[in-house]
Amino acid sequence: MSEVRLQVKHVSKNFGITKALKDVSFNINKGEVHALIGENGSGKSTMTNMLTGIYTLESGQFILDGKEVHPKNQVEANEEGISIIVQELGTLSGLTVAENIFLGHEDQFVHLGIKNTAAMNKKANELLQSYGFDKIKAGDMIDDYNFEDRKLVEIVKATYFNPKIVVVDETTTALSQEGREELYKQMNRVRDNGNTVIFISHDLPEILDKSDTITILRDGVYIDTVKSADVNEDDLKKLMVGREVTGD
Ligand code: ADP
Ligand code: MG
Repeated sequence: MSEVRLQVKHVSKNFGITKALKDVSFNINKGEVHALIGENGSGKSTMTNMLTGIYTLESGQFILDGKEVHPKNQVEANEEGISIIVQELGTLSGLTVAENIFLGHEDQFVHLGIKNTAAMNKKANELLQSYGFDKIKAGDMIDDYNFEDRKLVEIVKATYFNPKIVVVDETTTALSQEGREELYKQMNRVRDNGNTVIFISHDLPEILDKSDTITILRDGVYIDTVKSADVNEDDLKKLMVGREVTGD
């Protein structure tokens, strides 16, 4: 029997008159890649943005390992053991690689009010090497790297602290096959450490291949949670749109 990591309880979210999520409840287990699928606008990102402190949770609860969490920003989410990698650039220009990795968590390198940049860079280089990303150097400006390499920095930033939950929201769409493979490898590592990946993608073959469990949302409503091994693409399409899907 799998252990529950996150309980989503009666979560609702409105943007003006748009009801993005309507009383959504389901569980996500430890040690799994849990996919979240649904058509555009079905509420996937709204859900994960609230979990990661990008949007404010107004109605409902997130219970992480038995304790309610309510992060007000991404740094607070990190402190609860939750991180996110999105589709767009998630690193900040004008900062170094190391400053990006430790953004909001620089305290560990400050002594008597002075930031020890050398220590921060050393730690970041050790991390980059442990991921096999040796081509990226901690002290370089992030702007010196292309989109794919900046995504590798984001992978380190989102996973180095062994988080309980890592959200991957449509990240694979923007990546080359090589970049995807690297991300899959790290997703599996998170899972194999007994932690949880929440994986959002609109590529159903990819979802079936890379996830263990799939939750379907439709128009902000929770539809079902299924085992990836028990369903095929047509089953998922039906669940997503709410009727038989014929042709393309
Ligand atoms: P998905 O990620 O499944 O494509 P979203 O969660 O982004 O869906 O969107 C769900 C609904 O909420 C959509 O109708 C979308 O337009 C709306 N929405 C999402 N974010 C915002 C926002 N910041 N402001 C206003 N409406 C939003
Ligand atoms: Mg989205």
